[in-house]
Amino acid sequence: MNILVINSGSSSLKYQLVDMSDESVISKGTCERIGFEDSFISYKTFKGIKKTIKISMENHIEAFKAVKDILLNRECGVISSVEDVTAIGHRVVLGGPKFNKSVLINEDVIKSIEEFIPLAPLHNTANIQGILACKDIFGKSKPQVAVFDTAFHSTMLPKAYIFPIPYEYYEKYNIRKYGFHGTSHRYVSSRCAELMNKDISKIKMITCHLGNGSSIAAIDGGKVIDTSMGLTPLDGLIMGTRSGSIDPSVVTFIMDKENLSPREMDKILNKKSGFLGVSKISSDDRDISNAAAHGNVQAMLAHDILRYQMTKLIGGYIAALNGCDSIVFTAGIGANEPSHRYKVCKSLSYLGLKIDEELNNQMIRGKEGKISTKDSKIDVFVIPTNEELLIARDTKNLIEQKKCSS
Ligand code: AMP
Repeated sequence: MNILVINSGSSSLKYQLVDMSDESVISKGTCERIGFEDSFISYKTFKGIKKTIKISMENHIEAFKAVKDILLNRECGVISSVEDVTAIGHRVVLGGPKFNKSVLINEDVIKSIEEFIPLAPLHNTANIQGILACKDIFGKSKPQVAVFDTAFHSTMLPKAYIFPIPYEYYEKYNIRKYGFHGTSHRYVSSRCAELMNKDISKIKMITCHLGNGSSIAAIDGGKVIDTSMGLTPLDGLIMGTRSGSIDPSVVTFIMDKENLSPREMDKILNKKSGFLGVSKISSDDRDISNAAAHGNVQAMLAHDILRYQMTKLIGGYIAALNGCDSIVFTAGIGANEPSHRYKVCKSLSYLGLKIDEELNNQMIRGKEGKISTKDSKIDVFVIPTNEELLIARDTKNLIEQKKCSS
């Protein structure tokens, strides 16, 4: 059984074809700059073929057509007919309060995803474009599944997800904390339980997804009790270009002073803040590390902010969990940058947390394992995330359940 996993953005489209007999990726790629004149597709197959080709893709339907052509291509293709794709699993960013798990997509599900477009305009619109384009290119009868970024966080209680503003905004507009990166937090938390050789229901855990977007989740017995992202992925930690949590008055003050519209202010907070805003250099952690190593004060400040915020969040979540058995680091920065892990864990040493420096330095570029010492009171792991695999697994499970029930 082959499952096509799709992550559809407003101008990009990432895909992976997963052979579920051994969960191996047989082809993967990215369509970029969809809708622009210079659109291109990069792909890689298990046969060792790796290419980037310029190809006109005016919209998502054309992008999916390009993906299909590559999957079926005589030279670089990995399947011989569209029938070899059993089902398609989509990453959907905001499921709202309606979806606490992955679902088979039907007209009602599409309508519900549409309902949440006002809260996630770019993401949910792109996700729907992807779903509809798949219907066109792979056929209406091809089963499609939605795997929501927000679903894993649906176990939060109102005390964690209600913002202390007039309650009518929650009632009128569904304004509340939803949390994001749920598929990643779910993957690494269940993998962490496997590595600890313990039942997840007995573990108090904190998972740190640190990438261009970053979020931390507090997970008690496999259920999220709190997470750092909120109504949108703008909340929480300092990120590549996103501010994370700031005093709300800063927003109204700057808008007033600079005469900015909500859209312009939104752009500043989402695209011009975070590492980029503070360092004035780059949104990329590797560039910040480079500059910091050369004594750039702004770059050092950006890193100090990240580490300080992480320490405060993890400390707060340990209190909220009333204990902690393990901490996990994942995503581009979490799974590759030992210095953040070391410094954050050092500042939690009063809890008996001890890091093995050598192991920590080794755990980069896709390596998975424990980085705490044997006598550490809290186990610390680096676990590269694999959201695509979880989407493929959910898709397989749902279509098998459907077969059983029909
Ligand atoms: P992500 O959003 O998970 O793809 O993560 C992107 C971030 O991870 C960027 O800030 C990169 O600088 C950082 N990153 C990715 N790969 C590495 C690496 N090998 N070493 C250090 N940082 C990395």
